[in-house]
Amino acid sequence: MRWCGRASGLARPRANQTTIGVLEHNLLGIPPEPGTAAALVVAFRRAGTCLTHRPLDVTTASDAQRIARCASCGNRMHLGDAGEWVVTAAS
Ligand SMILES: [Zn+2]
Repeated sequence: MRWCGRASGLARPRANQTTIGVLEHNLLGIPPEPGTAAALVVAFRRAGTCLTHRPLDVTTASDAQRIARCASCGNRMHLGDAGEWVVTAAS
């Protein structure tokens, strides 16, 4: 019987360079390489938006409505009438 598992076929650990770049920026203040997706994410964040918001529910008992923060851009969000997370307009 032939061993069909080849070393090159094994799942290699996948590092998400974008996530790493953004985390380096967030945690260590290291600016991402220009032209990378991470640089784009940080640039979008500075513009107050991101490609895909990743709302994390941070609602507490004292909140009148469901509150979240985007894990990517940090924008405050709330659950809109349509049942979808929308960025809360800065007032
Ligand atoms: Zn976002």
